[in-house]
Amino acid sequence: MSQLVPVIEKLQQILPGRLVLDPEVLETYARDETIDLCALPACVVRARSAQDVAAVLKICNEYGVAVTPRGAGTGVTGGAVAVAGGIVLSMEQMNRILEIDEHNLIAVVEPGAITADIQKAALRHRLLYPPDPASLDTCSIGGNVAENAGGPRAVKYGITGHYVTGLEFALADGSIITSGGKYVKNATGYNICGILTGSEGTLAVVTKIYLRLVPAPPNSIDVLMPFVDLGAAVAAVSALLHSGIVPATIEFMEQDAITFVAAHLGQDMPCADAGAHLLLQVEGASQQACHETLEAIAAACAIEEDSIFVAQTAAQQERLWKGRRSIREALRAESPIFLAEDCVVPRGEIAAFLAGLKEYLQTLALRSVMFGHAGDGNVHINVFKDSLPAEQWQAMLSDLKREIYRRAIEHGGTITGEHGIGCIRRDYLAMAKSPEEIALYRRIKQAFDPRGILNPGKIF
Ligand SMILES: Cc1cc2nc3c(=O)[nH]c(=O)nc-3n(C[C@H](O)[C@H](O)[C@H](O)COP(=O)(O)OP(=O)(O)OC[C@H]3O[C@@H](n4cnc5c(N)ncnc54)[C@H](O)[C@@H]3O)c2cc1C
Repeated sequence: MSQLVPVIEKLQQILPGRLVLDPEVLETYARDETIDLCALPACVVRARSAQDVAAVLKICNEYGVAVTPRGAGTGVTGGAVAVAGGIVLSMEQMNRILEIDEHNLIAVVEPGAITADIQKAALRHRLLYPPDPASLDTCSIGGNVAENAGGPRAVKYGITGHYVTGLEFALADGSIITSGGKYVKNATGYNICGILTGSEGTLAVVTKIYLRLVPAPPNSIDVLMPFVDLGAAVAAVSALLHSGIVPATIEFMEQDAITFVAAHLGQDMPCADAGAHLLLQVEGASQQACHETLEAIAAACAIEEDSIFVAQTAAQQERLWKGRRSIREALRAESPIFLAEDCVVPRGEIAAFLAGLKEYLQTLALRSVMFGHAGDGNVHINVFKDSLPAEQWQAMLSDLKREIYRRAIEHGGTITGEHGIGCIRRDYLAMAKSPEEIALYRRIKQAFDPRGILNPGKIF
C-alpha cells in the first residue's frame, strides 16, 4: 500500500480526469464474469491513448505496483480482476474503429472497441471480421486478442489469432512498440503478435490492433437440427465434416440447454423435445445455393430434411442465436453457482469424453449441462452446485476440476479451448504443460516484464 500512495499522486498529476477512486465505482471493476470471484482494486485508470497507457506502466514499474489490464470485463477466468491488488488499467475509452481499409481488407482499431461494432463497421463495406465469441455484443477486441477468443465460426474461419496482422503495445517499462501492420504475410523476425495473442495481459498492454477482414458471404441460412441424444448429434458432425461440407458454424446443445434458455428468455425454442441439437449456419452465393447445401448436409447426416428447423426470417434467425448466446445466463438463472469448464478434445473424441464425464458426474449426484463448438471439439461443461452447502461444494471443486481435466487430456485434448487460464485454472496448468514449457513461459515473462507488474497471479 505504501508504494500505491506516491503512484496514485503521480498519476493524478499527469493524467487528470482519468483516475477512479470512488469506492462505489471501484466496486464495478472488482469482478468480471467469473463466478464467485471478487477483488477491489486500489484505483482504476481509464486510459485515453497509448501514451496514457505507457505513462501508467512506467510509473507502476518504477514503484513495483501491479497493473491489471481490463477490456470490457466479460472474461470468465478472472483475467481482468486485480487479485494481487494495485491498479486496474481500463481500455474502455480507447474504443475507436480507426479505419476499415477496404482495399487492403484490414481494420485498424483501438483495443476497447466492441467486437460486434467492428463486425458491423466491416459489414458496411461488405467485409467480414469472422471471430464471434458469444459475448460479442459486450466484449472488447483487446480482450479477444489477450484471450485468443474463439466463437461458433471458428470451425470454418478460425479464431482471433488468425486475424491479427499487427499490434501496437506498451511494455511494462512504458516503451511502445509496433509489430506487424496492414500486410498479411510476415517472416521478419520473431512472431511477437503470436506471443502476445493469448497472453492474458501478462506480457504487454495492447494499444492498437490491425485485423484481417474477408469478403462477407452474400447469403446464409441458419438451421436447428434435432437429434435423439448428444452421441447422435456428434456422430452427425463427423459424417458432415467427412463429406467435405464445412458450414460456418456447428454448435451443439444438450436438451437442457435449450429448455433453460426457453425458460430464461420466456420464449419457445424450436425442436425443444429433441435430446440434443446442432445449430448450423450455411453460407452460399445465393439463397438457393444455401438450400442445396442444406440438402447435402441432411443427406450426409442421415437426417430427414423435414425435421430441420430453418429460420425463415431475420427475427427467427435472431431467436436462434439469442438462444445460443444466452445459455450461460440461463444456466446462472438455474443455479447461480456452477462450475463452467471449457475443455477441448479432438472432434472425434467429443462423444466418448462427454459420455464418460456425464456418467462420472451422475455418480456424484451432480446435474450438468453440456454445449459448445462441436465443429472444433471445444466443449463447455457446466456442473451445478444446486443446493449443496457452500463448504461441501468448495471442498469437492478442486477434485472435480482435476478429474474433468484428466479426462480431457486422456482423450488427447487440453484444459481450455478459448476462455484461458487466468487465475481460476492457474493451479492446474502443470496438468497440461510440461515443467520445461512452463519454465520457458517464465523466461518469456521475464523478458517482457522483468519486475512482474503485469497481471500478477494469472496463468502461472
Ligand atoms: C456470456 C458469455 C459468453 C462468452 N462466450 C465466449 C465465446 O464464445 N468465446 C470466447 O472465446 N470467450 C467467450 N466469453 C469470454 C469473454 O467474453 C472473452 O474472453 C473475451 O475475449 C473477453 O473480452 P473482454 O474485453 O471482456 O476482456 P476482459 O474480461 O476485460 O479481460 C480479459 C483478459 O484480457 C486482458 N486484456 C484486456 N484488454 C487488454 C489489452 N488491451 N491489452 C492486454 N491485455 C488485455 C485482461 O487483463 C484479461 O486478462 C464469454 C463470456 C460471457 C460472459
